[in-house]
Amino acid sequence: MNKTLPEVVSEILTLNGAVVEETGDGCLEFLAPRTLSDKLNLPEHGRLRFGYDDSCGNAISATYDSELFKAMAGLLEGKGKFCVASLESFHPDTGKLLKHLNETVALNNASFRVEKSEIKNISYLLCHFKYTAISDEKREGITQVLINELNLSTATPPENSLLQLQDPVRESTGIDRHDLETLFRASYSAAAETAKEQLKDFTRSLERRLNRDIRRVHEYYGTLRKEAKISIEKKAARGKDRKAGKEDTGPLLKKKINAIETERRWKVQDLITKYSLNIRIEPVSVIRIETLSPVLWINIRRRLGTRSFPVAYNPLIKKLDELPCELCFNPKKPHVICDDKLHIMCSGCFRVCPKCGKRYCGICHGSGCPKCSHKT
Ligand SMILES: [Zn+2]
Ligand SMILES: [Zn+2]
Ligand SMILES: [Zn+2]
Repeated sequence: MNKTLPEVVSEILTLNGAVVEETGDGCLEFLAPRTLSDKLNLPEHGRLRFGYDDSCGNAISATYDSELFKAMAGLLEGKGKFCVASLESFHPDTGKLLKHLNETVALNNASFRVEKSEIKNISYLLCHFKYTAISDEKREGITQVLINELNLSTATPPENSLLQLQDPVRESTGIDRHDLETLFRASYSAAAETAKEQLKDFTRSLERRLNRDIRRVHEYYGTLRKEAKISIEKKAARGKDRKAGKEDTGPLLKKKINAIETERRWKVQDLITKYSLNIRIEPVSVIRIETLSPVLWINIRRRLGTRSFPVAYNPLIKKLDELPCELCFNPKKPHVICDDKLHIMCSGCFRVCPKCGKRYCGICHGSGCPKCSHKT
């Protein structure tokens, strides 16, 4: 889901207590509480513009490279202190959820059974990230990830997520959650994937232009090769007329062709560098959402091992959360369970050693193959 910059800025300001209104000319008018205006170095009342022209009069710049945008990331400062919102959950009964569990949990090499179900206070982080893709051109955008703090399941939040949230309440205690470092690592990884998804057209156009330019280089140097051959042969023919003897043009032609080939290789390498894509991802805002929701505890069995794992009903997307891949954190079904620690992985993260062919868990063996020590 793509959100525009004004939408994201408006949502973040609103969640932090501001009143924001569109003015119809592409600008936003805001009224910010003192605490927020101090943090963002904004007046308490003003207008924001998102373009580089000044059609909005003396509005404050809120473009991707503006001071305001940088200051918004500062709203994250003071580790663990987020803007907190609550969400009233109208959840289906457990019987219905149990029916959906078999569609949600798809394990390739393990079985599971339900251990217990409970209604529990859980929390999610709704993270906004800015991505910058740099190649011969630059693209910027916003991507969002919703992460369950109990089990690291990630999802793309729906369009209207923020509208469903209630006024920020004081953060409750006693909610089971992973540590922040793990949560951020997981949400970064998921955001990198959604950003790539959003950049699909850009990447395709990049590949198209790279292929087109490489083809042109091949054509150009192909012509040069032919011309070199013809010119050397002509020269040899003229020399033959004059001297009435035979001249070996082979070494000369070979030297010339080698030089052309070397230059062609350099040119192709230059193009690959020119079109290589670098994506940077930075956090812009994090909102913690607390809610009371059903949690189904499943018992995963793989060979002799068992592992208890919570699957929660996500009131924002209105269905059970998918299992997370505990390595890349993208919700990609079906999942594979590792033998040793029963980690949950997507099939892409269940690695195959290119040297000895052994399949192994990328979480248990992050540095490489446990059988032949081939590094990843
Ligand atoms: Zn994965
Ligand atoms: Zn190996
Ligand atoms: Zn493992």
